[in-house]
Amino acid sequence: MGVPTVRPSDWQVLQVVHRLGAIPQYKLADLLGRNRSTVNGTVQRLLASGWLVRAGQSGTGRGRPAILLAVNKSLGCFAGIDIAADELHVAVVGADGTLQDQVRTRFGRDRSLSAVLDQIDLNLRGLLSRMDANVSRLLGVWAGINGAVNDRGVVVTCASHRWYNVPLRDRLAQRYGCDALVQGSAGVMNAAAESLMGAGREAESLVYYHVGRGISARLVSRGRALAGRTQRAGEFGHVVVEPGGPKCACGNRGCLEAVASGPAIVAALSKLPRRGLPAPLRAMLRKSPPEKKRAIVCTAFQYANGRKDQMLTKLLGRVTAYLALGAAMAVAAYDPDVLVLGGYAFEDNPALQEGIRKALRAMVLDWEERKVRVVLGEVMSQDRAIAGAAEVCQRFWANPRGVVVSA
Ligand SMILES: [Zn+2]
Repeated sequence: MGVPTVRPSDWQVLQVVHRLGAIPQYKLADLLGRNRSTVNGTVQRLLASGWLVRAGQSGTGRGRPAILLAVNKSLGCFAGIDIAADELHVAVVGADGTLQDQVRTRFGRDRSLSAVLDQIDLNLRGLLSRMDANVSRLLGVWAGINGAVNDRGVVVTCASHRWYNVPLRDRLAQRYGCDALVQGSAGVMNAAAESLMGAGREAESLVYYHVGRGISARLVSRGRALAGRTQRAGEFGHVVVEPGGPKCACGNRGCLEAVASGPAIVAALSKLPRRGLPAPLRAMLRKSPPEKKRAIVCTAFQYANGRKDQMLTKLLGRVTAYLALGAAMAVAAYDPDVLVLGGYAFEDNPALQEGIRKALRAMVLDWEERKVRVVLGEVMSQDRAIAGAAEVCQRFWANPRGVVVSA
Protein backbone atom coordinates (compact mmCIF):
# COMPACT_ATOMS: atom_id res chain seq x y z
CA MET A 1 0.00 0.00 0.00
CA GLY A 2 1.58 3.23 -1.16
CA VAL A 3 1.04 6.80 -0.14
CA PRO A 4 -2.35 8.20 -1.25
CA THR A 5 -2.27 11.05 -3.74
CA VAL A 6 -3.65 14.51 -2.97
CA ARG A 7 -5.53 17.06 -5.11
CA PRO A 8 -3.66 20.32 -5.68
CA SER A 9 -6.28 22.37 -3.78
CA ASP A 10 -6.19 19.92 -0.86
CA TRP A 11 -2.41 20.08 -0.83
CA GLN A 12 -2.53 23.77 0.09
CA VAL A 13 -4.55 22.91 3.20
CA LEU A 14 -2.17 20.12 4.08
CA GLN A 15 0.80 22.43 3.70
CA VAL A 16 -0.69 24.96 6.10
CA VAL A 17 -1.25 22.23 8.70
CA HIS A 18 2.30 20.98 8.13
CA ARG A 19 3.73 24.46 8.60
CA LEU A 20 1.71 25.47 11.63
CA GLY A 21 1.39 22.16 13.47
CA ALA A 22 -1.82 21.03 15.20
CA ILE A 23 -4.54 23.49 14.31
CA PRO A 24 -8.36 23.66 14.74
CA GLN A 25 -10.34 23.37 11.52
CA TYR A 26 -12.10 26.74 11.75
CA LYS A 27 -8.72 28.52 11.76
CA LEU A 28 -7.82 26.86 8.47
CA ALA A 29 -10.78 28.45 6.74
CA ASP A 30 -9.78 31.87 8.07
CA LEU A 31 -6.13 31.45 7.15
CA LEU A 32 -6.84 30.28 3.63
CA GLY A 33 -9.68 32.72 3.01
CA ARG A 34 -11.93 29.87 1.88
CA ASN A 35 -15.39 29.20 3.14
CA ARG A 36 -15.85 26.69 5.89
CA SER A 37 -17.82 24.14 3.92
CA THR A 38 -15.12 23.94 1.20
CA VAL A 39 -12.44 23.49 3.85
CA ASN A 40 -14.63 20.93 5.58
CA GLY A 41 -14.82 18.88 2.36
CA THR A 42 -11.05 19.00 2.02
CA VAL A 43 -10.48 18.04 5.63
CA GLN A 44 -12.86 15.09 5.33
CA ARG A 45 -10.98 13.86 2.26
CA LEU A 46 -7.59 14.25 3.95
CA LEU A 47 -8.83 12.47 7.07
CA ALA A 48 -10.26 9.63 4.97
CA SER A 49 -7.06 9.19 2.96
CA GLY A 50 -5.00 9.25 6.14
CA TRP A 51 -2.99 12.40 5.46
CA LEU A 52 -4.55 14.19 8.41
CA VAL A 53 -5.32 12.88 11.86
CA ARG A 54 -7.27 14.29 14.78
CA ALA A 55 -4.76 15.35 17.42
CA GLY A 56 -6.70 16.18 20.55
CA GLN A 57 -8.79 19.23 21.35
CA SER A 58 -8.05 22.87 21.80
CA GLY A 59 -9.36 25.31 24.34
CA THR A 60 -10.51 24.82 27.88
CA GLY A 61 -12.66 27.94 27.92
CA ARG A 62 -16.40 28.26 27.79
CA GLY A 63 -16.75 27.70 24.04
CA ARG A 64 -17.14 24.33 22.44
CA PRO A 65 -13.68 22.69 22.26
CA ALA A 66 -12.34 22.45 18.71
CA ILE A 67 -10.78 19.28 17.32
CA LEU A 68 -7.15 19.82 16.34
CA LEU A 69 -5.89 18.57 12.99
CA ALA A 70 -2.33 17.44 12.37
CA VAL A 71 -0.35 15.82 9.57
CA ASN A 72 -0.28 12.05 10.05
CA LYS A 73 3.44 11.56 10.55
CA SER A 74 3.29 7.81 10.02
CA LEU A 75 1.57 7.99 6.63
CA GLY A 76 4.62 8.80 4.58
CA CYS A 77 8.20 8.87 5.75
CA PHE A 78 11.75 9.72 4.75
CA ALA A 79 14.93 7.77 5.29
CA GLY A 80 18.42 9.08 5.99
CA ILE A 81 21.31 6.70 5.36
CA ASP A 82 24.82 7.63 6.45
CA ILE A 83 27.44 5.31 4.96
CA ALA A 84 30.43 6.15 7.14
CA ALA A 85 33.78 4.38 6.99
CA ASP A 86 32.99 1.61 9.49
CA GLU A 87 29.40 2.17 10.38
CA LEU A 88 25.98 2.41 8.81
CA HIS A 89 23.45 4.77 10.39
CA VAL A 90 19.86 4.61 9.19
CA ALA A 91 17.21 7.04 10.46
CA VAL A 92 13.55 7.47 9.57
CA VAL A 93 11.64 10.72 9.97
CA GLY A 94 7.89 11.01 9.60
CA ALA A 95 5.91 13.09 7.12
CA ASP A 96 6.17 15.98 9.59
CA GLY A 97 9.99 15.77 9.68
CA THR A 98 10.30 14.43 13.23
CA LEU A 99 12.58 11.50 14.04
CA GLN A 100 10.70 8.21 14.32
CA ASP A 101 13.47 5.69 14.82
CA GLN A 102 17.12 5.03 14.02
CA VAL A 103 19.69 2.25 14.08
CA ARG A 104 23.46 1.99 13.80
CA THR A 105 25.28 -1.14 12.66
CA ARG A 106 28.87 -1.86 11.78
CA PHE A 107 29.86 -2.98 8.30
CA GLY A 108 31.01 -6.52 7.80
CA ARG A 109 33.99 -7.56 5.75
CA ASP A 110 32.07 -7.50 2.48
CA ARG A 111 31.68 -3.84 1.57
CA SER A 112 30.59 -4.35 -2.02
CA LEU A 113 27.67 -2.29 -3.27
CA SER A 114 25.26 -5.22 -3.15
CA ALA A 115 26.29 -6.18 0.39
CA VAL A 116 25.87 -2.60 1.61
CA LEU A 117 22.52 -2.20 -0.18
CA ASP A 118 21.33 -5.41 1.51
CA GLN A 119 22.46 -4.14 4.90
CA ILE A 120 20.66 -0.84 4.29
CA ASP A 121 17.54 -2.73 3.24
CA LEU A 122 17.55 -4.96 6.30
CA ASN A 123 17.95 -2.01 8.67
CA LEU A 124 15.42 0.16 6.92
CA ARG A 125 12.76 -2.55 6.75
CA GLY A 126 13.35 -3.30 10.42
CA LEU A 127 12.80 0.32 11.40
CA LEU A 128 9.71 0.65 9.22
CA SER A 129 8.12 -2.52 10.54
CA ARG A 130 8.62 -1.31 14.12
CA MET A 131 6.58 1.74 13.04
CA ASP A 132 3.93 -0.48 11.42
CA ALA A 133 4.96 0.82 8.01
CA ASN A 134 6.82 -0.59 5.02
CA VAL A 135 8.98 0.66 2.15
CA SER A 136 5.97 1.66 0.06
CA ARG A 137 5.51 4.49 2.57
CA LEU A 138 8.87 6.03 1.69
CA LEU A 139 8.58 9.44 0.05
CA GLY A 140 12.28 10.20 -0.17
CA VAL A 141 15.68 8.79 0.68
CA TRP A 142 18.88 10.63 1.50
CA ALA A 143 22.26 8.93 1.52
CA GLY A 144 25.57 10.38 2.53
CA ILE A 145 28.84 8.64 1.88
CA ASN A 146 32.38 9.20 2.92
CA GLY A 147 33.66 9.84 -0.60
CA ALA A 148 33.33 11.97 -3.73
CA VAL A 149 29.88 12.13 -5.34
CA ASN A 150 28.95 13.92 -8.55
CA ASP A 151 25.74 15.84 -9.19
CA ARG A 152 24.04 12.75 -10.67
CA GLY A 153 24.46 10.89 -7.39
CA VAL A 154 27.26 8.68 -8.69
CA VAL A 155 29.92 7.82 -6.11
CA VAL A 156 33.01 8.72 -8.11
CA THR A 157 35.33 7.39 -5.46
CA CYS A 158 35.00 6.11 -1.91
CA ALA A 159 38.32 4.87 -0.52
CA SER A 160 36.98 3.11 2.59
CA HIS A 161 34.61 0.92 0.55
CA ARG A 162 36.74 0.82 -2.61
CA TRP A 163 33.82 2.02 -4.71
CA TYR A 164 34.48 3.71 -8.02
CA ASN A 165 31.75 5.14 -10.27
CA VAL A 166 28.90 3.53 -8.39
CA PRO A 167 25.44 4.90 -9.36
CA LEU A 168 24.16 4.92 -5.78
CA ARG A 169 21.34 7.40 -6.31
CA ASP A 170 19.79 5.41 -9.15
CA ARG A 171 20.11 2.14 -7.28
CA LEU A 172 18.35 3.58 -4.21
CA ALA A 173 15.64 5.28 -6.29
CA GLN A 174 14.98 1.99 -8.13
CA ARG A 175 14.89 -0.09 -4.99
CA TYR A 176 12.55 2.19 -3.05
CA GLY A 177 10.58 3.76 -5.87
CA CYS A 178 11.03 7.30 -4.59
CA ASP A 179 13.31 10.28 -4.99
CA ALA A 180 16.85 9.78 -3.73
CA LEU A 181 19.48 12.35 -2.92
CA VAL A 182 23.11 11.30 -2.49
CA GLN A 183 25.73 13.59 -1.01
CA GLY A 184 29.40 12.87 -0.65
CA SER A 185 32.03 13.26 2.00
CA ALA A 186 31.55 14.33 5.56
CA GLY A 187 33.46 17.48 4.72
CA VAL A 188 31.22 18.50 1.83
CA MET A 189 28.01 17.73 3.71
CA ASN A 190 29.13 19.48 6.85
CA ALA A 191 30.45 22.49 4.94
CA ALA A 192 27.09 22.91 3.23
CA ALA A 193 25.24 22.42 6.54
CA GLU A 194 27.41 24.98 8.34
CA SER A 195 26.85 27.50 5.56
CA LEU A 196 23.10 26.90 5.50
CA MET A 197 22.26 26.70 9.18
CA GLY A 198 25.41 26.57 11.25
CA ALA A 199 28.39 28.67 12.19
CA GLY A 200 28.79 30.28 8.75
CA ARG A 201 25.21 31.23 7.95
CA GLU A 202 25.98 34.93 7.85
CA ALA A 203 29.28 34.74 6.02
CA GLU A 204 29.84 35.16 2.30
CA SER A 205 32.51 32.49 2.25
CA LEU A 206 33.59 29.85 4.69
CA VAL A 207 36.13 27.11 4.87
CA TYR A 208 34.98 24.07 6.80
CA TYR A 209 38.09 22.44 8.26
CA HIS A 210 37.18 18.92 9.22
CA VAL A 211 39.38 16.85 11.50
CA GLY A 212 37.84 13.55 12.52
CA ARG A 213 38.45 10.23 10.90
CA GLY A 214 39.63 12.17 7.85
CA ILE A 215 40.91 15.68 7.22
CA SER A 216 39.55 18.12 4.65
CA ALA A 217 39.08 21.84 4.11
CA ARG A 218 36.03 22.64 1.99
CA LEU A 219 35.19 26.04 0.62
CA VAL A 220 31.59 27.27 0.40
CA SER A 221 31.33 30.63 -1.34
CA ARG A 222 27.99 32.44 -1.68
CA GLY A 223 26.19 29.23 -0.79
CA ARG A 224 28.00 27.07 -3.34
CA ALA A 225 30.54 24.46 -2.39
CA LEU A 226 33.63 24.29 -4.58
CA ALA A 227 33.69 20.72 -5.91
CA GLY A 228 36.61 20.54 -8.33
CA ARG A 229 36.86 18.45 -11.47
CA THR A 230 36.84 15.10 -9.66
CA GLN A 231 34.74 16.36 -6.70
CA ARG A 232 37.76 16.32 -4.42
CA ALA A 233 38.53 20.01 -3.92
CA GLY A 234 39.80 20.47 -0.40
CA GLU A 235 40.90 16.92 0.30
CA PHE A 236 43.95 18.00 2.21
CA GLY A 237 44.10 14.73 4.14
CA HIS A 238 46.10 12.83 1.56
CA VAL A 239 48.77 15.40 0.91
CA VAL A 240 52.08 13.96 2.12
CA VAL A 241 53.43 16.19 4.89
CA GLU A 242 55.94 13.76 6.37
CA PRO A 243 57.65 11.78 3.62
CA GLY A 244 58.30 8.21 4.76
CA GLY A 245 56.05 8.78 7.78
CA PRO A 246 53.31 6.48 9.11
CA LYS A 247 51.35 4.41 6.63
CA CYS A 248 48.04 5.89 5.48
CA ALA A 249 44.81 4.03 4.62
CA CYS A 250 45.26 5.23 1.02
CA GLY A 251 48.47 3.22 0.71
CA ASN A 252 50.83 6.18 0.79
CA ARG A 253 53.09 7.18 3.68
CA GLY A 254 53.08 10.35 5.75
CA CYS A 255 49.79 11.85 4.57
CA LEU A 256 48.36 14.59 6.79
CA GLU A 257 45.63 12.12 7.73
CA ALA A 258 48.21 9.52 8.74
CA VAL A 259 49.85 11.87 11.25
CA ALA A 260 47.04 14.07 12.55
CA SER A 261 43.55 12.58 12.06
CA GLY A 262 41.60 11.21 15.04
CA PRO A 263 42.60 7.57 14.41
CA ALA A 264 46.22 8.63 13.75
CA ILE A 265 46.35 10.48 17.07
CA VAL A 266 44.94 7.46 18.93
CA ALA A 267 47.39 5.13 17.15
CA ALA A 268 50.34 7.35 18.07
CA LEU A 269 49.14 7.62 21.67
CA SER A 270 48.88 3.88 22.06
CA LYS A 271 52.50 3.53 20.96
CA LEU A 272 53.75 5.79 23.78
CA PRO A 273 55.14 4.06 26.89
CA ARG A 274 52.11 3.72 29.17
CA ARG A 275 53.99 4.61 32.34
CA GLY A 276 54.49 8.21 31.32
CA LEU A 277 50.80 8.80 30.62
CA PRO A 278 48.19 10.19 33.04
CA ALA A 279 46.14 7.38 34.63
CA PRO A 280 42.74 8.23 33.08
CA LEU A 281 44.23 8.25 29.59
CA ARG A 282 46.04 4.99 30.27
CA ALA A 283 42.76 3.38 31.31
CA MET A 284 40.97 4.64 28.21
CA LEU A 285 43.68 3.36 25.89
CA ARG A 286 43.50 -0.02 27.59
CA LYS A 287 39.78 -0.68 27.50
CA SER A 288 37.97 1.79 25.26
CA PRO A 289 36.17 0.43 22.22
CA PRO A 290 37.31 1.96 18.92
CA GLU A 291 34.31 4.28 18.71
CA LYS A 292 35.58 6.14 21.78
CA LYS A 293 38.34 7.83 19.74
CA ARG A 294 36.80 11.25 20.27
CA ALA A 295 36.96 10.86 24.06
CA ILE A 296 40.58 9.65 23.90
CA VAL A 297 41.69 12.57 21.72
CA CYS A 298 39.91 15.05 23.95
CA THR A 299 41.34 13.57 27.18
CA ALA A 300 44.86 13.50 25.74
CA PHE A 301 44.75 17.19 24.84
CA GLN A 302 43.32 18.05 28.22
CA TYR A 303 46.27 16.44 30.02
CA ALA A 304 48.95 17.64 27.65
CA ASN A 305 48.13 21.26 28.26
CA GLY A 306 51.00 22.97 30.03
CA ARG A 307 53.33 20.02 30.64
CA LYS A 308 56.05 20.94 28.23
CA ASP A 309 58.55 18.23 29.00
CA GLN A 310 56.34 15.21 28.54
CA MET A 311 56.10 12.84 25.59
CA LEU A 312 52.40 13.45 25.41
CA THR A 313 52.84 17.20 25.09
CA LYS A 314 55.49 16.71 22.46
CA LEU A 315 53.30 14.36 20.42
CA LEU A 316 50.25 16.58 20.58
CA GLY A 317 52.35 19.68 19.85
CA ARG A 318 53.45 18.01 16.64
CA VAL A 319 49.86 17.04 15.78
CA THR A 320 48.70 20.61 16.41
CA ALA A 321 51.45 21.99 14.21
CA TYR A 322 50.45 19.68 11.34
CA LEU A 323 46.79 20.53 11.74
CA ALA A 324 47.60 24.23 11.87
CA LEU A 325 49.60 23.83 8.68
CA GLY A 326 46.52 22.36 6.97
CA ALA A 327 44.36 25.23 8.25
CA ALA A 328 46.94 27.84 7.23
CA MET A 329 47.16 26.42 3.71
CA ALA A 330 43.37 26.48 3.46
CA VAL A 331 43.23 30.12 4.56
CA ALA A 332 45.99 31.01 2.09
CA ALA A 333 44.27 29.13 -0.75
CA TYR A 334 40.70 30.32 -0.20
CA ASP A 335 40.94 33.61 1.74
CA PRO A 336 37.61 33.01 3.55
CA ASP A 337 35.57 35.17 5.94
CA VAL A 338 35.11 32.32 8.38
CA LEU A 339 37.12 29.23 9.24
CA VAL A 340 34.83 26.63 10.81
CA LEU A 341 36.56 23.96 12.91
CA GLY A 342 34.55 20.74 12.73
CA GLY A 343 34.90 17.00 13.25
CA TYR A 344 35.32 15.08 16.48
CA ALA A 345 38.91 16.13 17.13
CA PHE A 346 37.67 19.67 17.86
CA GLU A 347 34.57 18.76 19.85
CA ASP A 348 34.99 19.47 23.59
CA ASN A 349 38.63 20.16 22.88
CA PRO A 350 39.44 23.82 23.66
CA ALA A 351 43.16 23.01 23.88
CA LEU A 352 43.35 22.02 20.21
CA GLN A 353 41.11 24.89 19.10
CA GLU A 354 43.34 27.35 20.96
CA GLY A 355 46.49 25.70 19.63
CA ILE A 356 45.27 26.15 16.05
CA ARG A 357 44.31 29.80 16.62
CA LYS A 358 47.71 30.55 18.10
CA ALA A 359 49.59 28.79 15.32
CA LEU A 360 47.56 30.53 12.60
CA ARG A 361 48.63 33.92 13.92
CA ALA A 362 52.22 32.86 13.42
CA MET A 363 51.80 30.95 10.15
CA VAL A 364 49.48 33.06 7.96
CA LEU A 365 50.73 36.26 6.39
CA ASP A 366 48.76 39.30 7.61
CA TRP A 367 46.65 37.18 9.92
CA GLU A 368 45.44 40.17 11.97
CA GLU A 369 44.48 42.22 8.88
CA ARG A 370 42.57 39.35 7.29
CA LYS A 371 40.13 39.24 10.21
CA VAL A 372 39.20 35.62 9.58
CA ARG A 373 36.70 34.49 12.20
CA VAL A 374 37.72 31.10 13.59
CA VAL A 375 34.66 29.38 15.05
CA LEU A 376 33.61 25.94 16.16
CA GLY A 377 31.16 24.02 13.95
CA GLU A 378 27.58 23.79 15.14
CA VAL A 379 26.24 20.84 13.17
CA MET A 380 27.19 17.57 14.82
CA SER A 381 28.38 14.86 12.47
CA GLN A 382 26.72 12.03 14.45
CA ASP A 383 23.32 13.30 13.38
CA ARG A 384 23.96 13.34 9.65
CA ALA A 385 21.46 10.60 8.80
CA ILE A 386 18.71 12.43 10.70
CA ALA A 387 19.64 15.78 9.14
CA GLY A 388 19.69 14.14 5.68
CA ALA A 389 16.24 12.60 6.16
CA ALA A 390 14.92 15.97 7.38
CA GLU A 391 16.45 17.58 4.29
CA VAL A 392 14.61 15.27 1.84
CA CYS A 393 11.45 15.82 3.90
CA GLN A 394 11.84 19.58 3.47
CA ARG A 395 12.42 19.15 -0.26
CA PHE A 396 9.31 16.99 -0.50
CA TRP A 397 7.10 19.65 1.09
CA ALA A 398 8.49 22.24 -1.30
CA ASN A 399 8.04 19.99 -4.32
CA PRO A 400 5.77 16.96 -3.70
CA ARG A 401 6.28 15.30 -7.06
CA GLY A 402 4.09 12.28 -7.72
CA VAL A 403 1.90 12.78 -4.67
CA VAL A 404 -0.07 15.85 -5.73
CA VAL A 405 -2.12 15.02 -8.83
CA SER A 406 -5.16 16.62 -10.37
CA ALA A 407 -8.27 14.52 -9.77
ZN1 LIG B 1 46.71 9.07 2.46
